[in-house]
Amino acid sequence: MQLFQSKFNKGSVWLVGAGPGDPGLLTLLAFESIKKADVIFYDALLNDHILSVAKPSAELIFVGKRGNKKSINQLEINKLLINEAKKNKRVLRLKGGDPFIFGRGGEEALSLKLNKIPYKIVPGATAGIAGLAYAGIPATHRDFNTSITFISAYGAGGEKPETIDWASFSKTSQLIVIYMGLERMKWVCNELIKRGRDKNENIAIISNATNKNQKILIGNLENFSKDFDQSTIDSPALLVIGKNV
Ligand code: SAH
Repeated sequence: MQLFQSKFNKGSVWLVGAGPGDPGLLTLLAFESIKKADVIFYDALLNDHILSVAKPSAELIFVGKRGNKKSINQLEINKLLINEAKKNKRVLRLKGGDPFIFGRGGEEALSLKLNKIPYKIVPGATAGIAGLAYAGIPATHRDFNTSITFISAYGAGGEKPETIDWASFSKTSQLIVIYMGLERMKWVCNELIKRGRDKNENIAIISNATNKNQKILIGNLENFSKDFDQSTIDSPALLVIGKNV
C-alpha cells in the first residue's frame, strides 16, 4: 500500500532528516527513501541501524565529521550530490534530526536549485523537540512557557557566535534549547547569569537523546558555570534551560 504520493525519481536528490537516533522516529518518507536510494550520503550523527534498510547494491558514503580527522567540506558535498544525480541515480542526503535545523540543508538545497537538479526536502524530528520528549521535558507547558528558543553555540566557522543576543534571551526566552553547547557549557551558563538569568534556574543536559545510551544530567546555571566536568557526559548533547526542566 502506498500511503503517500511523493516518488523518489532517478536523477533527483532527497534531503532527508532521520531524526535524532531512535529508528522508530523515522518518517515513512525517510524510511521509503532509504530503501529506494542508489547512493546515500550520511552524517556522523546517524544511528547505524537506520542504514541497514538500504538495498544491498546501494552505495553508502560517509560525509560527516569524525574525531579530529579532516572532514569533507560543504562545497565538496554539494558537488557530489550534483554529480551523482547527473548519473541518473536516486541520491539520498541523510541527516540527523531535521535537515533545516542547524543541518546545512539550506545550503545543499540552494546549490541543487542553482544547478537545476530536482530535489525534495523531507523534515525529520529535531533533537531539540524529540530529545526533550524522550527526556520527559515538555517543550511547552501552559504554566511555564509560551515560546521556545533554539540556539546554536557554534557559528559557521566554529566560533562563538556574536549574533547571540544573550541579554534579550536571558530576559525573554522562557525555554532555551542549545545545540552544540556541551563544549561551551561554562560560557553559556556564565553569559546567561551575567545578563540577568536566575542563577538557580535548572539546566538539563540530554546526551544521545532517543538512543539506548541516552543520559540526562540536571543541575543549575550556577553549578554548571563553575565546575562542570565534560568527561562525565558524551556528545551529541543538548542543553535545556527553563522552568520546564
Ligand atoms: N539537524 C540536527 C542538529 C544538527 S547540529 C537536528 O535537527 O537535530 C548537531 C547538534 O544537535 C549536536 O551538537 C547536539 O547538540 C544536537 N543533537 C543531535 N542529535 C542529538 C541527540 N541524539 N542527542 C542530543 N543532542 C543531539
